[in-house]
Amino acid sequence: MTAVVNVESCSGCGECVQVCPLDAITMQNDKASVDPEVCGDCGACVDACPTQSISIS
Ligand code: SF4
Ligand code: SF4
Repeated sequence: MTAVVNVESCSGCGECVQVCPLDAITMQNDKASVDPEVCGDCGACVDACPTQSISIS
């Protein structure tokens, strides 16, 4: 299980980067990108995303 970003709907706001406690998310070409090796599946980014662009799967 890891957080997955839908780049089609990601607005590039960076909220998820701010809330991730493990610094697993970086911005790549103005879209959020999750490092699955670092993500701890906590769900904080899912709750923080204003465009519902992150899911855990
Ligand atoms: S699920 Fe948690 S650890 Fe994983 S990217 Fe989102 S905020 Fe970071
Ligand atoms: S919070 Fe959502 S819309 Fe904002 S950068 Fe992260 S994935 Fe994209």
